[in-house]
Amino acid sequence: MTATQPRPEPDVVELLARILRDGADLAGAECIGNPDPFDPPGPVEPLDDVEYRHRAAAAICARCPVLDRCTDWAQSQPADGMVRAGHLPITPRPPGRPRKDTAA
Ligand code: SF4
Repeated sequence: MTATQPRPEPDVVELLARILRDGADLAGAECIGNPDPFDPPGPVEPLDDVEYRHRAAAAICARCPVLDRCTDWAQSQPADGMVRAGHLPITPRPPGRPRKDTAA
């Protein structure tokens, strides 16, 4: 590769390859055109914001007309921090005191 060629982004290439390889018919999905709530956590995004965003995404999934097909498809996808078929990813929290809403 020369200095004038743009460096391929491996994550994007892998994502596109995965979409083409494992694509499901999700025509009519509620998330089309509104992918941001489903994205994995940003590098400096506060965890409370991530949880709020992901719960909003799960609410979108709950009214999605292709939820059943998406559920089948999502089972074959890697755990990458995205919301799929209404399932919230496990978001690691830093060690510390438990949250008030989860305390016994
Ligand atoms: S169930 Fe959720 S993730 Fe799946 S297609 Fe519908 S809106 Fe998108």
